[in-house]
Amino acid sequence: MQAQIFNFGRSHTYTNEYLYFIYNFCNFSIYTTLISMKRWIALLVFALLFTSTIYAQKNKRCAVVEYHKQLFQRHPQLKLSYDAFEQQVNAKVANENYLKATLRTSALLEDTTTLHTIPVVVHIIHNNAKGTIGGTNISDTQILSQMPVINNDFRRLNADTTNTPSYFKSVAADMKFEFCMASVDPNGNATNGITRTYNPATSWDLSDDTVFKALSYWPSNQYLNIWVLPNITDTGDGDYQGGILGYSQLPMGDLPGLVHFAPDTSASTDGIVILYQGYGDKGEVYFPYNLGRTVTHEIGHWLGGLRHPWGDCIEGCCTDYVDDTPWQDSADFDYSPCQLRTSNCNGPVDTLMIQNFMQYTGDNCMNLFTEGQKQRSRIAFYNCPSRVALLNSPACGQQSLRTTSTVTSSAASTGLTIYPNPVSYSYSISYQLNKSDNVLLSVYNVEGILVKTLINTTQAEGDYTYTYSADDMAEGLYIFRFVSGGNATTKKIIVVK
Ligand SMILES: [Zn+2]
Repeated sequence: MQAQIFNFGRSHTYTNEYLYFIYNFCNFSIYTTLISMKRWIALLVFALLFTSTIYAQKNKRCAVVEYHKQLFQRHPQLKLSYDAFEQQVNAKVANENYLKATLRTSALLEDTTTLHTIPVVVHIIHNNAKGTIGGTNISDTQILSQMPVINNDFRRLNADTTNTPSYFKSVAADMKFEFCMASVDPNGNATNGITRTYNPATSWDLSDDTVFKALSYWPSNQYLNIWVLPNITDTGDGDYQGGILGYSQLPMGDLPGLVHFAPDTSASTDGIVILYQGYGDKGEVYFPYNLGRTVTHEIGHWLGGLRHPWGDCIEGCCTDYVDDTPWQDSADFDYSPCQLRTSNCNGPVDTLMIQNFMQYTGDNCMNLFTEGQKQRSRIAFYNCPSRVALLNSPACGQQSLRTTSTVTSSAASTGLTIYPNPVSYSYSISYQLNKSDNVLLSVYNVEGILVKTLINTTQAEGDYTYTYSADDMAEGLYIFRFVSGGNATTKKIIVVK
């Protein structure tokens, strides 16, 4: 029953047309012997193209519901933690909305302004035995093409914000999250944030989740793990033989008083899973999933526990725990064209927000998250131990945008760089002063204890570079804090020996 609401209604129509075509095609072949070989080839090519069209139609955008059903069957105690966490998040959202309505203060609300950067590792699980780039072993170009998409979508910098209808523009949100390809691996070595693993399997089922994730995994409290697969099926009650575009693991709590699940039970599977043809906006991708929005959608689930706008219940019209997304009776699969549709849940007719990233519509129809989704996401993020731990991850090294966001154009200093990172023997620090100013450069350990002060003096306008030995620093993570002109900048540096 539940699977029914996820079916692409059109696939049946296309399948019937296809069978009708094949039927006529075969009959035709019996009665004619005059047809030329060239025409046969042309017809076969047409048939193949038609088959690929059907394949596209039969995709299922997201299996997050089916995945969690299986996850909770494997680990019943995890369901307790998940339910308690959901209640906690919903209570906090309700409390915030009450405070906003009554006290008109933002002092007690979760932070909605600080920009956070999430390190990403992409695990390509391919079946290309030669190991060459191509097919399921997608290119670096395709892999990297995903990053601008999510960085734009989560900052509302996507070019197609112009397609957001005027009546939804007021609730469209800058989620204040960004993503970087990891530049430091779990061993402290430099990396491009991509792993490639050969496995002969041509397809992976939801029930194989722990198997393929074990092939390549980085600690999920330091990285967003993204596994890219040749094919994703759900041969359980969903009975999807192919073309599932993706799924993700929702944020969960680890609340006191609950039955604690075994360590790594959920951590080792935490992340998102994407079909290689739905990853990025270049290379193997195809319409209507060719704009990278599958990953935007799945990160929406993973980051802040966002739901589909129809609430994932069989009857539809269920809550997604967000106030500013219209009530919706069922999933919407439009993509060409992106048709406006209404629902009449609870009486009044609502125009659906088919443009929301959490819909099942085509990539070309999607262009916004809402303020309500932002509020719920950030509350879930800050209250989920494995998510909030990402803010201390050293994995982005110098790429980490959150460490430089306090520098503004009016500041007396700009362009602080510390390299290399990780550090083994020595490191150099460079910066520019736009005017004469006091400069304070301090080094703290990961516990926030001052280790040493490198610079504490007044300096003239100009460019500065210093090189220091790391002999006196033990292995570990250090925070360099640079203050001038009333502005502070921090950088995280790893020392590896
Ligand atoms: Zn989904």
